[in-house]
Amino acid sequence: MEIMSHPEAKRVYLDYPATTPVDPRVVDAMLPFFTECYGNAASTSHDWGWEAERAVEDARSIVAEALHARESEIIFTSGATESNNLALKGVAQRATERRHLVTVTTEHSSVLEVMRQLERDGFEVTYLPVQPDGLLDLERVRETISHRTLLISVMLVNNEIGVIQPVADIAQMAHEHGILVHTDATQAVGKIPVDVRALKVDLLSFSAHKFYGPKGTGGLYLQQTSPKIRLKPLFQGGGQEYGLRSGTLNVPGIVGLGKALELCLAEMAAEQKRLQELRHYLEENILKRIPDAWVNGHPHQRVPYIVSLTIPGVAGEALLLSLKQVAVSAGSACASGGVEPSHVLRALGVGDSAARSSLRLGLGRFTTREDIDFALDYLTETVQFLSKSTTTLSTG
Ligand SMILES: *Cc1c(COP(=O)(O)O)cnc(C)c1O
Repeated sequence: MEIMSHPEAKRVYLDYPATTPVDPRVVDAMLPFFTECYGNAASTSHDWGWEAERAVEDARSIVAEALHARESEIIFTSGATESNNLALKGVAQRATERRHLVTVTTEHSSVLEVMRQLERDGFEVTYLPVQPDGLLDLERVRETISHRTLLISVMLVNNEIGVIQPVADIAQMAHEHGILVHTDATQAVGKIPVDVRALKVDLLSFSAHKFYGPKGTGGLYLQQTSPKIRLKPLFQGGGQEYGLRSGTLNVPGIVGLGKALELCLAEMAAEQKRLQELRHYLEENILKRIPDAWVNGHPHQRVPYIVSLTIPGVAGEALLLSLKQVAVSAGSACASGGVEPSHVLRALGVGDSAARSSLRLGLGRFTTREDIDFALDYLTETVQFLSKSTTTLSTG
């Protein structure tokens, strides 16, 4: 009997904003910390502990240098969700008179859901709308803030449409009124230059698995210049991380985060240029082949690796299910598993039906020109097939 050989189906990963593979160089840097240098970084009585502590402090100094911060301003956490929780709840729970918080409707759920909890805890929260290009209007911020405002939280790069918010301008305005500023920079750190002094932010969240490091490790920058910010920790325990994040440090994860960030910085300029060209090629060809489609978000003030695409008339759900060989996202799967139209696209004023016909394509370090060509063919064929079957159904 003849055995049929099926060439392995080609698959292309275009979901880098959801998570990235760990760079093999990062894995190599992490491995010794599982099996050889396995000490507890808080053990101060032997070599094993000292080695672990030194590795953590080396990673901290890489992060501090990358963000233009001080080492004492970096706290390691389990990721951006925890950092956002620590930043927002930590500041709010130390609040005295000021009980008003400001954020934006297009934030990540780990900011929005914390804000909703703080509302239940008695805070007043303003959710600012964005303009149709996804950017925040500074005048709206100015109108909203008052002497009662405690903190403004605005993400640096949006995870669904890639627009870059004017965080430095917002921070400038906020500080004139004694308001703290937090930014969720999870989609920015490692991809574009992030300088906490230039941004003038007080708190900044990031996560290693978005920049080719391991899942379950991230951090929070906490400004310690003047005046010192008082944060209430989420966890009580051994007092690690300046008492702000108790729990045995994830040494391999932190080493991986440091190594991953070091690689990103070394390769950033070249990588930005490469991805910019790839994205341009992708967008240009998609819009040529699917003339009804459009790209969401500000055309220029955005990062070079996220494309939010609306293809009217094609149900995004059906499209996602049909795209077996190309991994993209609707940007909007709700926690219960049902598909809700993206809250970000709706905030831009994209209608429900168009929002349901939208896809997010995310490029990254291992994306090649061949991948993009494959995705282009695959996507256009699938869209043509689906719109043909829709037409047949509706007319027949
Ligand atoms: C991925 C992401 C998060 C959550 O990060 P985790 O480390 O997975 O908790 C938060 N904010 C933004 C903008 C993200 O893209």
